[in-house]
Amino acid sequence: MNTAVDTASLRKLDQSHHLHPFTDFHDYAEHGGRIFSKAEHIYIYDSEGHKMLDGMSGLWCCNLGYSQQSIIEAVYHQMQELPYYNNFFNCSNQPAVELAKALVDVTPANFNHVFFTNSGSEANDTNIKLAHRYFDLIGKPSKKLIISRKNAYHGSTVAAASLGGMSAMHKQARGLDYVHHINQPHWFEEGAEEDPNAFGIRVAQELIAKIDELGEDNVAAFIAEPVQGAGGVIIPPDSYWPEVQRICDERDILLIADEVICGFGRTGKWFGSETYGIKPDLMTFAKAVTNGYMPLGGVMVGDRVADVLLAGGGEFAHGLTYSGHPAACAAGLETLRILKDTNIIETAASDVAPHFQARLQEYVDHPIVGQVRGKGMFAAVELVSDKSSRERLAPESGGAVYCRNVANENGLMVRQTGDAMIMAPPLVCNREEIDILIDKLGAALDATA
Ligand code: PLP
Repeated sequence: MNTAVDTASLRKLDQSHHLHPFTDFHDYAEHGGRIFSKAEHIYIYDSEGHKMLDGMSGLWCCNLGYSQQSIIEAVYHQMQELPYYNNFFNCSNQPAVELAKALVDVTPANFNHVFFTNSGSEANDTNIKLAHRYFDLIGKPSKKLIISRKNAYHGSTVAAASLGGMSAMHKQARGLDYVHHINQPHWFEEGAEEDPNAFGIRVAQELIAKIDELGEDNVAAFIAEPVQGAGGVIIPPDSYWPEVQRICDERDILLIADEVICGFGRTGKWFGSETYGIKPDLMTFAKAVTNGYMPLGGVMVGDRVADVLLAGGGEFAHGLTYSGHPAACAAGLETLRILKDTNIIETAASDVAPHFQARLQEYVDHPIVGQVRGKGMFAAVELVSDKSSRERLAPESGGAVYCRNVANENGLMVRQTGDAMIMAPPLVCNREEIDILIDKLGAALDATA
């Protein structure tokens, strides 16, 4: 392909007709963006031939990188056999059935059922309907309110954005009136003068206060990511989750773990819930379930809810044309097979992740670094202009946006959220590749200081 000519015309067409998600339209109209055309292992290439180490696993989804030929072949084979048929009205297909069983096998023991969607957003919408139906069926129809957290990201459909706690998105969705928010356990942002575990308990106990305010008989569920990802890789203090779990158990509130980012190895175990000892009733998954190669999401429905749904009979009036799409499920099945057969989650957790986290700690003393936080294969580096007051970088320095741009220009794909640099490299990185990532990040920090 004549890259120079094609890129220019493609970019122009893109600017003329393509409305991009989460993209500033003025900025895009003026500068356009990169058009990606190829990927290999942990590297992505744009149409002008620039090579970047993907420190974000796509959008936190290509945990096994870009060269998993057997997933591609599984999808191709399935497309030839049965490219589509629906799962409504008593119909099913083999990959959907087999993926349901494979998911039951890798999730905690109380999960024996799955509801498929195409995305994490739709899965979180599904969670709301499941929670409502569960309490209707057990004769507690007043329990309809959902508690979520500020700065959470649960997707961008109207319901998922209402669950989310990022104010711009929440406003756009005009927040559903049955969703309420409590604070996030962001120690660096909100509690750094306090002992982290005391802070964790205090923030967890906001859940009790909110339940009391709304009335226990009205609250159906609490939803949270084990580690808030898009919000800035907010690592909860150790005390946080046990206290939240205790409150949900004590107060008859369903606990929904949104594992869309944490699931499938990101935090060191298969699910973030296992890393933090959470026992959710419903678990959202998407992204890495197909290694990002096909759109697929879903809800793992725990026995507490599934038993009631099934015993109650009748129809759960919910579903998507592509729920359990055969080609997407074939990708999921092969992804799970690779994860199991290669022990990649365990290898990443015991070898690569400790190296990643240890090397990141080298930047703790960097003049513009306020905090380095991480768990397993994801991390955030919070940028400040004053370490002791934690004052953020002055906007005129460009701050984290500038730092991210320098990293991008230097061949490293990382993200910026607020004042933090965010990284979630593929689990298949080796130590040398992590070293490249760390060195490129260091160069971007130096250029920003
Ligand atoms: N939940 C979490 C925790 C996410 O990070 C995301 C996406 O980043 C979603 C839900 C939404 O998933 P999707 O973009 O597949 O709708």
